[in-house]
Order: sequence, then C-alpha cells, then structure tokens
Amino acid sequence: MSVLTTTEEDLVQKAFEDLIDHCTHCDGKTDQKMIRKAFRMANEAHKGMRRKSGEPYILHPIAVAKIVTHEIGLGAKSIICAILHDVVEDTEYTVEDIENHFGKKIASIIDGLTKISDVFDNKSSLQAENFRKMLLTLSDDVRVILIKLADRLHNMRTLQSMPPNKQIKVSGETTYLYAPLAHRLGLYAIKTELEDLSLKYRYPKVYNDLLNMVTDNEKKRGHMINTFALPLIDKLENVGYEFDITGRPKSIYSIWNKMQTKNIPFEEVYDLLAIRIIFDAHPEIPEKTQCWNIYSMITDTYKPKPDRIRDWVSMPKANGYEALHVTVMGPEGKWVEVQIRSHRMDEIAERGFAAHWQYKQAGKGSSAELDRWIKKIRELLDNPDSNALEFLDDFKLNLFASEILVFTPKGQIKSLPKLATTLDFAYEIHTEIGNRAIGAKVNHKLVSLNYTLKSGDQVEILTSDSQRANREWLYYVTTAKAKSAIRTVLKSETKDHIQKGKQIIEEKLKEYNLKPSSRVFKKLFPAYDVRSKDELYSKIGTGIVTLGDLKKILRKNTKNKWIRYWELQFTSSSKNKKPAENKAEKDSYSGSHYMIRENLDDTESEFSIAKCCNPIPGDDVIGYKNQDGSIVIHKIKCPKAIRLMSSQGNRIVPATWTTHKILSYLASIHIQGLDSFGIYNNITTIISKELSVNMRNINLVSHDGVFEGSIDLYVHNTKDLNNLIMNIMKIKGVESVKRVEKIED
Ligand code: MN
Repeated sequence: MSVLTTTEEDLVQKAFEDLIDHCTHCDGKTDQKMIRKAFRMANEAHKGMRRKSGEPYILHPIAVAKIVTHEIGLGAKSIICAILHDVVEDTEYTVEDIENHFGKKIASIIDGLTKISDVFDNKSSLQAENFRKMLLTLSDDVRVILIKLADRLHNMRTLQSMPPNKQIKVSGETTYLYAPLAHRLGLYAIKTELEDLSLKYRYPKVYNDLLNMVTDNEKKRGHMINTFALPLIDKLENVGYEFDITGRPKSIYSIWNKMQTKNIPFEEVYDLLAIRIIFDAHPEIPEKTQCWNIYSMITDTYKPKPDRIRDWVSMPKANGYEALHVTVMGPEGKWVEVQIRSHRMDEIAERGFAAHWQYKQAGKGSSAELDRWIKKIRELLDNPDSNALEFLDDFKLNLFASEILVFTPKGQIKSLPKLATTLDFAYEIHTEIGNRAIGAKVNHKLVSLNYTLKSGDQVEILTSDSQRANREWLYYVTTAKAKSAIRTVLKSETKDHIQKGKQIIEEKLKEYNLKPSSRVFKKLFPAYDVRSKDELYSKIGTGIVTLGDLKKILRKNTKNKWIRYWELQFTSSSKNKKPAENKAEKDSYSGSHYMIRENLDDTESEFSIAKCCNPIPGDDVIGYKNQDGSIVIHKIKCPKAIRLMSSQGNRIVPATWTTHKILSYLASIHIQGLDSFGIYNNITTIISKELSVNMRNINLVSHDGVFEGSIDLYVHNTKDLNNLIMNIMKIKGVESVKRVEKIED
C-alpha cells in the first residue's frame, strides 16, 4: 500500500469527471449526486490500494462504470453499482453500509456481485455451483450479470500486467463462459472483444500473425467493398435513403475460428465479403417494409441465393437480434452476405437487447424475449435434481449452439438450440408430453423421437399413456430441460426397481431358510457380476437378473450344512435316470430336487415343458411329477402350477435348469415403435444375426405410423432373450420391446 501522488490523484479525478461528463442515461441532479457519493465511498475504501500494474485501484471501478454506461448503455443505478462493485469484497465495508447509504436495490446488486466474484475457483465443482449462483442472481436483476461482464471486459483489457499462467486461466474462462454469456445477451461488441482478447493471450503467435494478415489485406478488401457497394449507393440515394454501407468487420477470433472449424486457409475466410447497410428509418413506414424495400433494390442489382435469406425482422432471435440477411452473387462471381438493419436494430445488435430493454423500460413487450430466457434458466435452477456440474455442461451446450425456430401444430413458435430433436421439443412443450412421447410428425411425416429438427419444421408430438422415459433418451436430447426431466424419471424408476428386486430376492432366500446376510451376498455379487446390493436389487427388479440359478450359486464352495443336504439330493436324483425309483421319492417327493438337463440323445425326454406357461431356461420353475414318473416343468407363477401345488403338493418337485446351449425353447416378444422406412428389415436382421435365435412367427401391424405386434422365437435361455431384447431396443424407431409371458389358466 502506498499513498497516491498528487499526479495520480489528478488522474483519478480526471477519469471520474470524464465518466460523469459522458454518462448517457443519468439525467437529473439526484443521479449525479449519488454517483459522486459512490465515488467518494469507493475512493475512500480503496485508498492506497493498487492494481498489479501499479496504477491506483480506484481507476478499475471507474473504468468498469464507463463500460457499463458507454458500451452497454445502462443508467445511474448501474454506474453506482459498478463504482462500488469491489468495495464489499476487497475492503472493510459491508453490504449494510451500502444499504444505509444507497438503499436496498443497490445493496442487493452489490451483494450479488460480491457473491459471484469468486465464480472461478480452482475446483471445478465449486466453479459450477458458483456459476449456478451467478445465474440465480441474474434472474433477480440482470444488471448483476451486465456489470460482471463489464468487470471482466476491463480485466481482459488490462490482462497484460498479470503473470502468464493467470493470463491463460482468465482467458480460458472468458472464452468458455463470459463470451457465450455476452453473446446470449446480445452484447455483440463485447462478445467479440472478449474473444479477441482471449485469443491474444491464449495463442499470442496465432493472434499476431492473423492481425498482420488482416492489416496487409485491408486495402484489397476495401477495394472489393467499394466495387460491390457503388451501384447500390446510387440506387438507395436516388430514392432518398439515408444510410451507411460498410464492410462487416471480421474479428480475429472469428477468422481463426472459421479457419479451425472449416479447415480452410486465411484467404478463403477473409475473402468472403459481408456488407452491412444501416439506414435511418422513415418514421411513418414500418421498418420491416423498409428492410424488404432495400432488399428488393439489392436483388435488382445482384442475384440472390434463394436458400440464404434470413429474416430476423419478422422473427427476431431470442436475444433480440433483428436484421434481414441476404446472400447475393457479387461482381467478381463471389457470394456476398448483406445485412440490412435500421439504426435501432443496429443498436440492439451491437449493444445488446438487455441494454435496449433496460433504458427503454417501455413495459413488458420489449422484454418478453429476455424474460423468457431468464425463465428457462430459472426452471433449471429450481430443479433440485440437476447436479451443478451437469448443469454447467448443459448450459455451455445451450450457449454455444445457435438456435432453431420450429412451430407447434397451431403455429406457435418455439425456439430450441441447434441439433435439438423431436424429444427435446416434446419436453419444451411440457414435461409430461416428453415423458409420454412415442414419436412425432414433422411436417406431417412420421419420425422417431431422436429426429433432429430444422428451423421451420412443424412438429406434432404423439404420446401414449403406457410410455415411460428411458435411459436411451438421454442420448436423444440436447436441451438441459429435457435432460434434467429424463434424469428425474430415471432416478425414481431406479428406486422402484431396487425396492422390487429387494423384495424378490428376500422372498426367495426365505424359501431356502436363508437371511440376506453378507455371507450370502458375497456369493451373489461375483455370480451376477454386480458390485453393490442396490445394483443387484435393481437388476433383479428390472428382470436383467433372473434368480433361476440362485440355488446353484448358493451351493458353490460352501460349508453350510443346509446346502450340503441339497448337494446329496442332487447327486442321488441326477444319477438316477428314473426319479420315480429314487429313494427320496419314497419319503416325500417334495423334499427332492430336479435338475433339468438338456436331453441330447433321441431317447424320450424325462421332462416336458408345460404348454400353458411355456417356461424357458432361466425362468423360475417348478416340476410336477406325473403318474408315469415324468416331470412337467411349469413357471413358478403359472396359475395351473399354483393350483397343483396346493392340491397335489406331494407331486411338486423343486427344479433347476442346468446350462442350456443346444436346445431351443419358444418365447414371444412384443415390440412397439414408429413405422419408419426399413424398420421391419432392421428388426428381422437383428434377430437372424443372433446365432441362438430363430424366428417362428411375426405379426406386426401398423396404424397411424406406429407399429406394434409380436414375434415368436426360439431361444436357448432367458439370457439370450434378454440380449436380443436389448439389441432390438437399440434400433432407431423401436420404442419398447418386452417379453410376452403367455400364461393360460
Ligand atoms: Mn472488479
């Protein structure tokens, strides 16, 4: 800390007077008085403090205030906040002090600014959480975010005095968060400067090379612009338009970015001309009409490229951008993009919709788009399930993707990020519509849920009450809203499955007089390839793990007496071809156990599969012993078997499948999906590719573009069947595949 020299004090005073003199929206004596008061407080608070560069600290808040008013166009309150923005954070002053002197509103903005000042810490989770906080404050008062951007811009402008590692870090954050945020708020000029400065510190050589190339090519470019503009200037002047016609300046960053993404050399990027025509709007004619009028004059001279008209006049972008873009064939046979804007539109484009809205304060109409955006963020923040890091990723994605505009069947416009799918659209309309979506009609044609939408598409969502959101859907969607809604469903479903699976296995163990002890789980985990109880439960609950071989697993390498007993039974019953003569049978058959083996020789099988329930290897089954000693295998849940158990319990025998790899059993699956081109072919190809599966019968019907039906197949066991089901699920357009358990009473 060192006291300021007189020269420095003069410098500070001068900087402040300059701010006051050029303050755009602070009319009135009270405003000026409050700004001076803020300056005195900040000056006192930061007394003796210096920045890394050595200059007096107070110059920083003054500079931020200048950006806030000159470059963003905000008024007196924002200037006061900008001047005070580092006071609470860096000095002894508190938010209460601010409130006492400047009132509640300003205190709350300063509080917001102080809280988000450590947005970028070293830990990424903290960073994301703080970013979330930042956006929360944003929805309270958008000025917090605008002043924060001004603060960042000034820090970027003065980054030179920071050590190199800090420069890289700050530049990185600027590229990833601040520039996209500025873009999303429509602060085009600030966004461009932030990007250029970031590039300068991240890749100094690249930046300087490009800067030199731009300077070298300026003359040539100027000539090209003039050649193109001259005939237009004549025409426009003849009908009395006041206008500016300029080449659209290309930022170093945008040139670099294009070279990277399109993999083309500098010349190719730089030679692409973009022209901007900014006109004084005639007060009595709608600006839209004037834009199209100018468009018509341009296209009288140069031929337009029909698919390259962008009408942001009839439909402004979500960030408020308005302009008419057209691409025409220039005099040298090159495409030239022309942007047509009124001065008002240009102001919004350059300085941002937020600023425009801020000082206009004309009522709700002009801020509707901004409000909508803030509302969207609010929805995400309000969802307690959205993890902060996930949120940051989703948000980044939303920021970077440019948007598309699509229509509801009733002609309502919805804005979605680029690459959004029909499922995103469904969730955009309503969470329940998303959860129940089975497909969509885009421009009256049936498409699947992962169909990528294009601007101008008309989308109608088809729903079904039996539909459930599933994990695959996370790959279908891009919007943060859809992702977080799907995750919410999945989380609650997992809970249900765990509950169900827990119940199933506990009941099962009870049958064998076992408790779900850690000794039992020690055997089950490796056998079912799971790592936790919850994983096991959920796999049982979803049917991925069937407990057909539970006994076998429990039997393995055990010294438990109970299991030993079963082992004895196994040996005796399996050695003996005719269980009827088995010793155990004489006492009570129900005490014995039947192993269902694949019968490979041609001799008559000693067991048969019950026609009423058609069990397949892997299913939980029991055996019913006929008079002749043969065994009929039923599913445990088969009603007929249940009746037999109660009436002829002595003929019931526990049964377990051994490995079944050669013989096949009949099973049936039910499929539902969207009737898209080639889907039947895809399904049958998958089935025939599975070596262990043969089709017997296909019965699929389609109606209203949705198909459903069943396929009967021969499989070796439930594992094969589950694999097949999973593979069919992966086919685009297939919505659900379930095993059908036809059980006849
Ligand atoms: Mn600051």
